[in-house]
Amino acid sequence: MASEYLFPPQPQATLAVVGEDRLFPVARIFCVGRNYVEHAKEMGNEVDREAPFYFLKPTIGMAHSGAAVPYAPGTRDLHHEMELVVAIGEPAFRIGTEAAQSVVYGYACGLDMTRRDLQQEGKDKRRPWDFGKAFENGAVLGPITPAGSVPSLDGRRIVLKVNGEIRQDAHLDDLVWKIDELISHLSRYYHLMPGDLIFTGTPAGVGPVVAGDVLEGTIDGLEPVKLTIGPAE
Ligand code: MN
Repeated sequence: MASEYLFPPQPQATLAVVGEDRLFPVARIFCVGRNYVEHAKEMGNEVDREAPFYFLKPTIGMAHSGAAVPYAPGTRDLHHEMELVVAIGEPAFRIGTEAAQSVVYGYACGLDMTRRDLQQEGKDKRRPWDFGKAFENGAVLGPITPAGSVPSLDGRRIVLKVNGEIRQDAHLDDLVWKIDELISHLSRYYHLMPGDLIFTGTPAGVGPVVAGDVLEGTIDGLEPVKLTIGPAE
């Protein structure tokens, strides 16, 4: 019998879930830009308080916590961005902030790896950010902790260490656009669906990594995200 496909499809991207044997199948990866005031400043920008803005990453570029990945091709300035990631568990279209929490499945620690030089070139030439943001191993994720197992994210500390040294250190209270606001806003432009992930932006302290670096990102109450940067291919 002939196969339906010309070649084997790429495997479904998934994340492990704390306390659950079944996997979370990942649909889309949305990422918010400039969502901490101090990070916007360090990049030479001001926060836009009229509306958040986004970019997306392909799920084929997803890596799991604990991976060792090659230094990304085409860049000489690969940066770390430590972020809180929200995992969506219910459909949501045009929902208000008061209902947003009900569609959250859980939370994870994520690294929005960034080819900063290519992102800057995109900004300078008024081109899309894709080359700077949407590349293989550009989204790194720890396991999801179900929302019911996280009493509250208020006041939680978000930290990134490189080789044991703290590079990013902030509190989730510093988010400009809160989780409920992001979900509500995104749901005006997309039919959010179970499996969607939202990277909520990075605090100040982003910087370059080099081959051999070991990254560890933590948020109180969640599983950490770890990544080892290998040599360039
Ligand atoms: Mn980011």
